[in-house]
Amino acid sequence: MVFEVTILGTSSAMPGWGRNMSAQLVNYEQNLFLIDCGEGTQHQLLKYKAKMNQIRHIFISHLHGDHYLGLAGLLSSMQLQGRTEAMHLYAHRGLADVLTTQFRVSQGYVRYPLVFHPLEAAHSQLLYNGETLTVSTLPLDHRIPCCGFLFRQKLGKQKIIKALLPDDLPIAEIIALKNGQDVVHNDRILRSQDLTQPPKPPLAYAYCSDTKFNQALVPYISGVDLLYHEATFADDLAARAEETHHSTARQAATIAQLAGAKQLLLGHFSARYRELSPLLEEAREVFAGAHLAVEGQTFRVNHPLPI
Ligand SMILES: [Zn+2]
Ligand SMILES: [Zn+2]
Repeated sequence: MVFEVTILGTSSAMPGWGRNMSAQLVNYEQNLFLIDCGEGTQHQLLKYKAKMNQIRHIFISHLHGDHYLGLAGLLSSMQLQGRTEAMHLYAHRGLADVLTTQFRVSQGYVRYPLVFHPLEAAHSQLLYNGETLTVSTLPLDHRIPCCGFLFRQKLGKQKIIKALLPDDLPIAEIIALKNGQDVVHNDRILRSQDLTQPPKPPLAYAYCSDTKFNQALVPYISGVDLLYHEATFADDLAARAEETHHSTARQAATIAQLAGAKQLLLGHFSARYRELSPLLEEAREVFAGAHLAVEGQTFRVNHPLPI
């Protein structure tokens, strides 16, 4: 089972100290989802050997340039590489205007279908409904409409306890037991609850950038296995964070603690910080499971130590 996040960019507003603009690649069972696409994202995808043409969904949190200015370049490169498969773009509706203008003035175009899904930032919206995974938006509180993204596994089926099954039980009956139905076999009632055990709890990953400290977010991300939350500033700049609708590392940790998240990744660091360990220490005073998001590192959603 693969459910992991590769960090491609962690810098806010502008690049600094070798850090790039916001972007992440989520791999769920070899389905690739790109979250945000700051300037330089295609370089990062190449650098970390991502299978770019396997990306079928791109989610853009908001239209500040540090989250989307790499998009036109990435889409153009995919065209040059001969992409034919549709690309689904999820963003606020202004992005369609921006891309249309960029392609029109350069007389460039893409031959593969671009399917645009406009986002409403004010409430949670289901965007993707796969066989075993959903992606929905998280309302964030920023200077312009902005939403995070929640990747949540669906609850699996009951697991059969093989040792307890009669040897001659037909496959159709095994499937029925997995679906929670009781079956009759050789005049005996076999109860699903006796022969199966519950599936593993579904895993969830939440991406929350950019946002000011916002307790209204907590119920949406309750109990997530891994939370990425922006930590643009250290706590001594809390007033600046409030003013610019960003968060401090301590505030990010407080949200993780209130939500009962299992692990926290801090990111979206201001270019004023060369050294990030003070932000990490500040967060760990509140929430022990805090880590710095580091570009090029991959974090498993259920165990976010670098792979
Ligand atoms: Zn930003
Ligand atoms: Zn922003």
